[in-house]
Amino acid sequence: MERSFVMVKPDGVQRGLVGEVISRLERRGLKLVAAKLMTVSRELAEQHYAELKDKPFFPGLIDFITSGPVMAMVWEGPNAIATIRKTMGATNPANAEPGTIRADFACDVSYNVVHGSDGPENAAREIKLWFGEVEASWTRSVDRWIFPER
Ligand code: UDP
Repeated sequence: MERSFVMVKPDGVQRGLVGEVISRLERRGLKLVAAKLMTVSRELAEQHYAELKDKPFFPGLIDFITSGPVMAMVWEGPNAIATIRKTMGATNPANAEPGTIRADFACDVSYNVVHGSDGPENAAREIKLWFGEVEASWTRSVDRWIFPER
């Protein structure tokens, strides 16, 4: 079982796409284990995107992420990280496969609606950064119809 940090970015919140993103991840069979709508400080945004600090688009990215509320979430499931990345589509919506969130709802590389952790180390780092300890641990009775017991 794996966990991933997911965020509906300010463009997605403003455009009313929070429910759409949650719905797609729920329908995929993933389980929501933490969520909060929050305004992001520059410090948190810079820590979250620390790996990109030398990129030319970094200042604009920090301005964007702090420009309005985001929906920060933790999702859980088998291969949650890769499953969510596939569901989101490529970073640049122009390269995203049709049917992915970014292809269906975005047309610009900066305003691409959603973030999802890109690997296990970043997932653990991001979950700790945004949530500290995840409080919710719950059993979902439909799980046995979504994946076999392991
Ligand atoms: N980004 C941007 N311009 C670029 C590349 C990325 O504004 O040329 C933004 C975009 O919002 C992207 C985020 O920076 O989602 C993080 O980039 P990364 O390469 O980590 O892509 P992701 O993991 O979000 O697909």
